[in-house]
Amino acid sequence: MSRQDRPLLLTPGPLTTSQATREAMLSDWGSRDRAFIELNARVRAEILRIAEAEDSHVCVPLQGSGTFAIEATVGTLVPRDGKLLVLVNGTYGRRMLEICRVAGIDATAREWRETEPIDPGEVSALLESDPSVSHVAAAHCETTTGILNPIEAIADVVARSGRRLLIDAMSAFGAVPLSARDVPFDAVVTSSNKCLEGAPGVGLTVIRKDALERAKGNSRSLSLDLHDQWQTMERNGQWRFTPPTQVLAALDRALAAHREEGGVAGRGARYGENCRALVDGMRSLGFETAIPDEAQAPIIVAFQTPRDPNFDFTAFYARLVARGFIIYPGKLSELDTFRIGCIGQVNPADIREAVAAVRVTLDDMGVKDCAP
Ligand SMILES: *Cc1c(COP(=O)(O)O)cnc(C)c1O
Repeated sequence: MSRQDRPLLLTPGPLTTSQATREAMLSDWGSRDRAFIELNARVRAEILRIAEAEDSHVCVPLQGSGTFAIEATVGTLVPRDGKLLVLVNGTYGRRMLEICRVAGIDATAREWRETEPIDPGEVSALLESDPSVSHVAAAHCETTTGILNPIEAIADVVARSGRRLLIDAMSAFGAVPLSARDVPFDAVVTSSNKCLEGAPGVGLTVIRKDALERAKGNSRSLSLDLHDQWQTMERNGQWRFTPPTQVLAALDRALAAHREEGGVAGRGARYGENCRALVDGMRSLGFETAIPDEAQAPIIVAFQTPRDPNFDFTAFYARLVARGFIIYPGKLSELDTFRIGCIGQVNPADIREAVAAVRVTLDDMGVKDCAP
């Protein structure tokens, strides 16, 4: 099958999946049947293993996209008399703040520029100055720009001040190391369709067991109550409400592939090579990245839009789709950018093909200067 028939997704997700992962969705599963209960238990155990959190945490899956799991995590873990400090350097940080506003959760925020990582020193000062803050939330990789936040240092500061950390690791989990043995956190949230390379439809939260035990009755929502979801699953291995059975079957297959690839180290290495091939290739065409290399996560890269008057993103995008490559618009408020992802069932040879398609497309459009 040609690229044009099955385009490569160079996006933040959903992503290009393997044939085996898609084929795992070709069966029907009884949601209360033993085979599905075992599959579900295997998925939950594997997620805990990836986070090196088997002894301290539990994995609670939830129907929906990643945002559903973030909303459920915040709503379940922040007590009614608690207050969340949200560390913001992009859209996903801002979304957590919005979740609090809608749910009536007391929250405060500190914003950094989107092109700057969160500064743990400032977080420390903020926590000292506001004793009412009980929980802190931050994105590991802020997918808005692809910037990597120093989550280990942030976790250190939060733990030393006796507060609890909720990590949106949606776009980093499974490819960027984050171990519960080294990094203190109450929750890490991810989803089936990013670095785990499954189909979209399940959010996954790794939650510290004692924090979840204390969270009974916190939730402002029935369907987003992770304590209740957990309790039900512990009782009989079943989901409270209809599970996305095929999505879980695909995730089970995708997790086996993750392990075969060498786990977080293996997957991270491939994405790292993809990212280098992408950045080197695009720079050789004259493009500039939005984020300095030392803060760039190997997940997605934001490129600055060329100032050449012949460059038009909509036309550029459509021409790349016609060649079999789906890229992504930008999302920064400060800079005009577009994004190209490095994650999914994609290897460096695919990335070099994509860069070659960009080169031809620029020629077709008459774009000579890719400087911003
Ligand atoms: C993808 C993503 C989410 C969740 O987005 P959905 O569209 O709900 O899946 C949240 N945070 C980050 C950092 C993400 O990359």
